[in-house]
Amino acid sequence: MPKRAKVPRKVLSVPKTKVCTKCGKRKKLEEYHALRRGKYGKATWCKACDALKGRRYRAANPEKVRLAQARCRAAKPAYYRELTRRWQARNADRVRAVRRRWHARCMQDPERRRRERARMEEYRQTHKHLPEFKAVQRRGSAKYYAANKEKAAAASAAWAARNREWRNVQQQLRRIGGF
Ligand SMILES: [Zn+2]
Repeated sequence: MPKRAKVPRKVLSVPKTKVCTKCGKRKKLEEYHALRRGKYGKATWCKACDALKGRRYRAANPEKVRLAQARCRAAKPAYYRELTRRWQARNADRVRAVRRRWHARCMQDPERRRRERARMEEYRQTHKHLPEFKAVQRRGSAKYYAANKEKAAAASAAWAARNREWRNVQQQLRRIGGF
């Protein structure tokens, strides 16, 4: 067997850009996903074209995508929970809007309204001692009073009329500075 001559390894000079085979635009290498066997270690399509392909595929194959997502979620539940948590933290306004719509729909159906009320009451009972829950409640009632000043004043007058004795006690207490 003849000894193969040693060929000095060619030093590749890696350029800063390459042309996307999909859109034909010259783009920076950062704009391509990594692909070990690709030219300069990058994919042939740019990230934008790849993303477009993905979007089209997902639109054309909703059922396949749903199944694939379910498989991924089942394989790494903690990872996906964390992903969801981060997305929700970044999109707090959207989350609030969706919850509000869901809650409004729930309240239209008597059976679901009953269940939802029970769930809310249970949450209240298990969280009412927590300072952050109290703060949320205080903010909620401050907002309500600001928006319904007349209604709140009428309710408090009605309460006073129903509880005259207790009101007198309160007034006396206020005069003498508490118990
Ligand atoms: Zn492209």
